[in-house]
Amino acid sequence: MRSLKLILLGAPGAGKGTQAEIISGKYNIPAISTGAIIREAIQSGTEMGKNAKSYIDAGALVPDEVVIGIIRERLAKEDCVNGFILDGFPRTVPQAEALEAMGVEITEVLSIEVPDEKILTRMAGRRVCPKCGATFHTEFKPSPAGENCPCGEKLTRRSDDDPEVVAARLETYHAVTEPIKEFYAGKGMLKIVEGQDKLEDTTALVAAALEG
Ligand code: ADP
Ligand code: ZN
Repeated sequence: MRSLKLILLGAPGAGKGTQAEIISGKYNIPAISTGAIIREAIQSGTEMGKNAKSYIDAGALVPDEVVIGIIRERLAKEDCVNGFILDGFPRTVPQAEALEAMGVEITEVLSIEVPDEKILTRMAGRRVCPKCGATFHTEFKPSPAGENCPCGEKLTRRSDDDPEVVAARLETYHAVTEPIKEFYAGKGMLKIVEGQDKLEDTTALVAAALEG
């Protein structure tokens, strides 16, 4: 299989993380989520985590230099040589420019698009495992272990999935992240997929877009 160096774009809750995990398994390449890396740092109480928490809880973006540093370190690791999926990075045009300045070659940019009203309902049912990081949805992707994760831990709601915070995150997405689409469209790299209600249907469209 050719090497895939993919950027997944899409509003918070559009299903990027879920699709990233599926593509990661299929192509055997790491799915890199800046959001997940930041949440881990918050949990383990590192300096970066402490710094980032106030931004995340307000539904704001973490400063560019912080996430650019995270990505620079992560992409330097051995497991990225045959490809990777970026989920949640870049999220601003300066981040996209920094990625280019690092000399990172991207092969595809895929935007998963879902209307805001749908996102608001989706986020209400989103659950995560605080221990292993697995993600579920009460309605669309229930855990086989009910209110627990298959790993045994009780599932929780992310603090930034609170409806008010979600509204702030959507606003930030449209104002600050969406312009990235133009950045990559201008390079002829942008593909768009309409996110479907059933995650398998989105997976099929994503697979077709990546193969096509
Ligand atoms: P979602 O895609 O559902 O918004 P993420 O897990 O990707 O969730 O991100 C959670 C939060 O982490 C974001 O709201 C933001 O505060 C921060 N974050 C993640 N990635 C970036 C990034 N590339 N730039 C700035 N902040 C980021
Ligand atoms: Zn778990």
